[in-house]
This record gives sequence, structure tokens and C-alpha cells, in this order.
Amino acid sequence: MSAQTKGEKLFRGIAVSAGICRGKILVLHRARHVIAKRELSDQDVAAEVGRFEKSLVQTRQQISEVQRKVVENMGTKEGDIFEAHLLMLEDRMLVDEVIRSIREQKVNAEHAFHAVSERYTAALAGVDDEYLRERADDMRDLTARVLDNLLEVRDEFDLRHLTEPCILVSRDLSPSTTAQLDKKMILGFATDVGGKTSHTAIMARSLGIPAVVGLKTASDEFDTGDYALLDGYNGTIIINPTDQTLFEYGQLSRIKASLAEKLSEIQGQPAVTLDGKFIHLSANIEDPNDTRAVIRHGAEGVGLFRTEFLFISRASLPGEEEQYKVYHQAAAALKPNPVIIRTLDLGGDKFASHLQLAQEMNPFLGWRAIRFCLAQPEMFRAQLRAILRASAEGNVKMMYPMISGLDELNQANAFVEKCKAELRAEKIPFDEKIPIGAMIEIPSAALIADALAQRVKFFSIGSNDLIQYTLAADRTNEKVSHLYEPTHPAIIRLIKMTVDAAHKHGIWAGVCGEIAGDPTLTPLLIGLGVDELSAAPPVVPQIKYIVRRLKLTEAQALAEFALQCESPSEIYARCQKLACETAPSLFESKT
Ligand code: PEP
Ligand code: MG
Repeated sequence: MSAQTKGEKLFRGIAVSAGICRGKILVLHRARHVIAKRELSDQDVAAEVGRFEKSLVQTRQQISEVQRKVVENMGTKEGDIFEAHLLMLEDRMLVDEVIRSIREQKVNAEHAFHAVSERYTAALAGVDDEYLRERADDMRDLTARVLDNLLEVRDEFDLRHLTEPCILVSRDLSPSTTAQLDKKMILGFATDVGGKTSHTAIMARSLGIPAVVGLKTASDEFDTGDYALLDGYNGTIIINPTDQTLFEYGQLSRIKASLAEKLSEIQGQPAVTLDGKFIHLSANIEDPNDTRAVIRHGAEGVGLFRTEFLFISRASLPGEEEQYKVYHQAAAALKPNPVIIRTLDLGGDKFASHLQLAQEMNPFLGWRAIRFCLAQPEMFRAQLRAILRASAEGNVKMMYPMISGLDELNQANAFVEKCKAELRAEKIPFDEKIPIGAMIEIPSAALIADALAQRVKFFSIGSNDLIQYTLAADRTNEKVSHLYEPTHPAIIRLIKMTVDAAHKHGIWAGVCGEIAGDPTLTPLLIGLGVDELSAAPPVVPQIKYIVRRLKLTEAQALAEFALQCESPSEIYARCQKLACETAPSLFESKT
């Protein structure tokens, strides 16, 4: 039944690209390939293998062409998405298996290829790792392209020649399709499958088009021509919206647009309170290409470069040279602003499958982060040398995750000294005075902050872990999420102890956990004396906005209240009150 014959209906998915749009829907059904099995005579086998190989060459040319256009129009990071397709296309195991099955079973190429690729897709879709699971979509995309070429099928829609702006709805939107879109004609995207890190999501964000993914059955339930409203803030799509809904969303759109304007006005301004307290506002990144977002959102450098993402979702460890290039690229892009590179924080919920580490009963309390690095001298050495070498360029700092005591800090520092001595002997340049900091994310570290502060140049509070370890509440377990309270008095006291110890010894203290990106908590953190806040690039403008409207004296009064109050919810309510009074426009549009 067409949704047009029904009243208003709301579908919930996952919000992956902010914004609101409304308009007619275009449902894209991927051409369904009819794959007949054909038996071959002995003399046809060689020609069939040739036909299969030709389709691979053709597919490679098409993907490279799409990739070239994407790099031109969107950038290298988006273009890199197609590397996964090209790698799969060149996967010798897959190609040989298809050829073997054409030769041995004497069947046509499309039948053989389809059977093998289905198996690969199913294997990818079944793995635990979210990133690898999403590669199943890449495999489907690639399979469809090869089959198009074998069967000489052309695209059902030529998306380059749309005549009317529309909201695209599809089971999944392949990066190849997304790349062909005329941005002016696409109001938004909605797909049945996908997650926050799916490539459609990444591309939608880069294109600045509102998008909702994970809508499950949307593409079957909607019809082309249905009128819809898509809310990329809250992850919903509403079919046949009533006048009242359209009116409410019109208001929300106006509020968001006026806020976006206010935020862009302060893009180049510092984060300074009304009474003159400067806060260093930086951003968290996981990839050197994220530096563009850091600049675009007006952050003053990187407060946390999570390097472990270079190590996971790949087949082998990155060596010193590869890492050096990555760190150097980030430092060069942001100089003279600082880039704080965190040494490897594998373990907990971040695993590199190729390391094949034994399963642990309590991974968050186990062999993770600095503990793991200290036990893997060659791996640690490669990373330290790469960071040190990158420090010859720009303003590089380094910090260790999960420091629990002085011994670990001393051992890590000894490793650094050894690497420095090697580089000196090899006459390789690096910054002799590279500032080294410790993350404070274990309660023991906060409790001995006084001792640690005498041996490092800065602290960065990893509140995500500090909260989980202090309150014994697994940060990934929904069942205990009610216990995971940033405004618990214990957390506030530990932050205060850390900041006071830093200041007593003349060093600075920042926060790089998620609370640094929550504007409700900004006044509290500043009142507690935090010098630096590091958050995801897109939320940096909001934090800057509230800092610039805040009085340090009011923030300090809030912190004083929080330090003597016993109730997390009362503290949170006071935080909300001051944040809302300080920057009402940040909060009025939250739905
Ligand atoms: C933290 O624990 O707050 C932090 C920033 O590190 P991660 O989230 O990477 O563990
Ligand atoms: Mg952490």
C-alpha cells in the first residue's frame, strides 16, 4: 500500500548527518540481477574466463573514474572509500576461486562470481567488528557492478539527470551511487541499512546533506512521489507530515539555522570568557584527514589524536615509516597549533584482530593501552620513533593513556629516552623538548596527580574511562548506564584534585573525554579550573559559543556548589541551569 493513502507516519533510524529537509521521495530499487546458470562446453571455458577477467578490468576502470571524481569534488578521505572496492576486486583468493569454479564446474562467469561473492558478503556481514561488517556493503556494491558489466545491465536511474530535488530512499546507497549525485537535486538520504560509520553516512556528512540510516524497511514501505520530512538531527523520517508537524519543524529549522549562523560568526575567535579567562579549545581526531574538520570548526589544534585507529581494521601493524607520515601530515596541517598524539590505546573495546590476542575476562581492566605497549617493545618503539620524528615539524606533543602509577610513567619515559638517543645517533631530527603528558583516566592517577605532575608537562583527563573506573560502571554496558554519572561528586573531586596538582606544579590540565564536548558541563569544568577542552570537531563551535558567553566567576560559584553537594542529580540540575541561562540558543532546539 502506498504511504500516500495513509496518514502521518514516523519511522525511526539513526541520525548520521544533521539537518532537516522535506520534499518528494525517490525510492531507488537496485536493479535485481537475474542470474541463470549456464553449463559450458569444454571449448567455451577459456573464453568465459576471459569474459570474467574483462569484466574485472571494466569494473576497475569505472571505480577508478568514480574515485577520481570523488577526490575532485569531495576530497581524498572520501575517495579513499573506493580503495576498499579496489582491494576486494584485486583479492587473488576471490578471483582465483571464481576462475576455478568456471573451469572445474564449467559454469558461466556470472553464476560462479555471484556464488563466491555471496559467501564473502555473508562472512563479512557476520563478524563482530562493526567496521568489517560495514565492508559487506562495499562487497555488495562491487558485486552489483561486476554483474552489471557481465550482464551488460545499465543503471535503472541516471542520477546525474534528476529534474526535481528529492529525498533519496534506498535499501543501501552505495558510495558509487552517492558519488554520482548532483548535490543540488538531493535534499536528503534515507537508507534501510547502515550505521554511524557506514560510508553513506561519511559521504552525507561531507556533502552536508541530512541523512538517516538504519530505517530497516523504509525502502519497501515508501513509494516514489510520497511527501516526507527527514530529520537528520533526531534520525527520523515522517511520511505525509501534517500541517502541525511541518509548522513545528519549520520552527526547529529556523532555530538551527540562526544558531548555525551565530556559531559560524565566532569561527575564528578565541574561546575566552566574558571576564577574560582563555580556554584552549581543541579537537579529537582519529585520522590525519580529520584535520580539515578541526580547522573548519575553529578548534586550536588537536587535544587527542587516537592513534589506535591506524592499527585496527587492517591486516598487519603499521610500521614506523607509515606512522611517521600520518603524524607528520597532521602536524604540518595544523602548525603552529598543537597536535597531541596519544600513544597506542589498544584493548578494552578496541582490538586489532590481526594481533590475535587472547580473550580476557575483564578487558577494560586488562592488558590495554600503556600496559600493552610496555610489553611490546618493538611495536612501542616504532610508534615512539614515528612521533618523535614528526615532532621536527610543527607543534607535536605526546601523551600516554591509562597511566596508573609512577612506575609506568617512568618506564614509558625511559623508552622515549632510548628512542631519542637512537635518533640522535642516526642524526634524524626531532624536537628535543617535545612536551610529554599523562592521561588521567584511572582514579589512582588522579589520587597521585601531585607526584605525576612533577614528571610531565601536562595532564589530559580521559573522563570516559575515569568515570567508568571510579564508578565501576562499564562505559559500554547499557544496563549500568544509569550509574555512569559525570556529575557524581567523586568525579568532580577527582577532576579538582588533578587540576589543583597540575597548577601547583606549573603545568596545565585539560579534559578530552566526551564531557568536554557537552555544553551543559562546560561551565562546571571551567569553574573547576580546567585549562583546555578537547572535543569532537563538530561540537567545538558550541563549546566556544558557551565559553564566550560565560563569566568565570559564575562558573567558579557553580564548581564550589558542586564540590560540597552530595547529589549527582542536583549538581547536574545546577549545571543545566547555568548552561541554559548562559547560552539559551544551544538548548532551545534540542528535541
Ligand atoms: C577517555 O577515556 O576519556 C578518552 C578520551 O580515551 P578513550 O575514549 O579513547 O578511551
Ligand atoms: Mg580512555
